[in-house]
Amino acid sequence: MSPEYEVVIGLEVHVELLTESKIFCSCPNRFGEAPNTNVCPVCLGLPGSLPVFNESVLELAVRASLALNCTVSSYSKFDRKNYFYPDLPKAYQVSQYDFPLAKEGFLDLLKDGRSIRKVRIERLHLEEDAGKLIHDQKESISYVDYNRCGVPLVEIVTAPDLRSPGEAHLFLDWLKKILLYTGVSDCKMEEGSLRCDANISLRPSGTETLGRKVEIKNMNSFRAVQKGLEYEVIRQKQILRAGGRVAMETRRWDEEKGVTAEMRGKEEAHDYRYFPEPDLPPLMLDENFLSRMKGELPELPEKRYLRFMESYGLSPYQAEIITSSKNLADFFEDTLLHYPHSQKVSNWLTGELFGLLKTSVKEIDDIPLTPLHLGELLKILDEGTLSSTLAKEVLEESFLSGKLPREIVQEKGLLQISGEKELLLIVEDVINNYPAAVKDYSDGNKKAVGFLVGQAMKQTRGQANPQVITELFKKRLGK
Ligand SMILES: [Zn+2]
Repeated sequence: MSPEYEVVIGLEVHVELLTESKIFCSCPNRFGEAPNTNVCPVCLGLPGSLPVFNESVLELAVRASLALNCTVSSYSKFDRKNYFYPDLPKAYQVSQYDFPLAKEGFLDLLKDGRSIRKVRIERLHLEEDAGKLIHDQKESISYVDYNRCGVPLVEIVTAPDLRSPGEAHLFLDWLKKILLYTGVSDCKMEEGSLRCDANISLRPSGTETLGRKVEIKNMNSFRAVQKGLEYEVIRQKQILRAGGRVAMETRRWDEEKGVTAEMRGKEEAHDYRYFPEPDLPPLMLDENFLSRMKGELPELPEKRYLRFMESYGLSPYQAEIITSSKNLADFFEDTLLHYPHSQKVSNWLTGELFGLLKTSVKEIDDIPLTPLHLGELLKILDEGTLSSTLAKEVLEESFLSGKLPREIVQEKGLLQISGEKELLLIVEDVINNYPAAVKDYSDGNKKAVGFLVGQAMKQTRGQANPQVITELFKKRLGK
């Protein structure tokens, strides 16, 4: 049975760009500094000040556009979007209206190793960020911090192509990866450098006309986006089932209560009285610039994910976590240069090494352990001279100190004892010390050998080769 209603979702994502300075002035673009310290007459909108466009903003925005398969316009221009709000001292925001920087792109939504949907990107345009209001509940006062005024943004608008709250979450996961791979943004939602509003409507399954949409704001994590949309699906279904009409409005996600609440009626473009920005020239981009930018794009995460499955035989799950960051994927491929067995590298990387990163709360690029270290450790393991338990210890030591595994093994005398002569002495010793277990074994309890091997391992601090020593016990005591 097909469901009664089809869910239709489109997203509007605001992304702060990782530039040194702001979009129209030379104030630093930095998060977390004392309020109102990174400001000047331009970003405060003082009368008589004039904006100057920061070229590195253009490079990052074009990179994002190309990574999202958009057509970058050879001509785009800035417009003023007029509205009054205390965090916007000029009472207008410089944005792009009818000639955006880029349009008609797409993002391939991949899941479990295949594409589940091609989500169209309608447009990507440049704009400046507004300041930030800080509401002090205790004192019933609102403060304003203008440091964020003029921070460069791109707004990415998707077509209404997403069909469930889960798909919206997945879209954001991929978008974030693309923006991180290309160095466009740090995408820290907790610092506001990636923000997402969602439009959602329902329509009877099998119909094409779009239902009346509701915009949801104030979702501070990808999980919140999904939860807010899930709530809205249920709310709108109830209204429609009862024969009602969904009001076109903007609603606010209340994380604590787990509900959306009415915020205001939906505003239309004409409410903003857009008009061309007279103080900034249009952006004219030539082919040379665009083809240079195309050439500089790194391999993008979707491509890398599919290639890692195909070329290295990784499972979709492994490929997904290893390509979750560019540095991690680079680390994986660099390790293969030293030790060309992808499955083993993947297991050690996502197992032991991830464990160490997690406990130390570190990223792969801020540890002294390099692909050379991991490759060398796996080589020593293959030589059969190091037990896997000890290999884990060596990895940890290498992780902390940056010493090469071979050095650690030699220094600590950790090499596995496989010599029969040496091991035989230990076997004799254990047999003399545990006559009860020996008798047990002779009486037919073959499992008792496990206990004896355990004692031998203990005596050698884990350095005895367990296979060799088991064989020696069996030979000595008679099978
Ligand atoms: Zn400034």
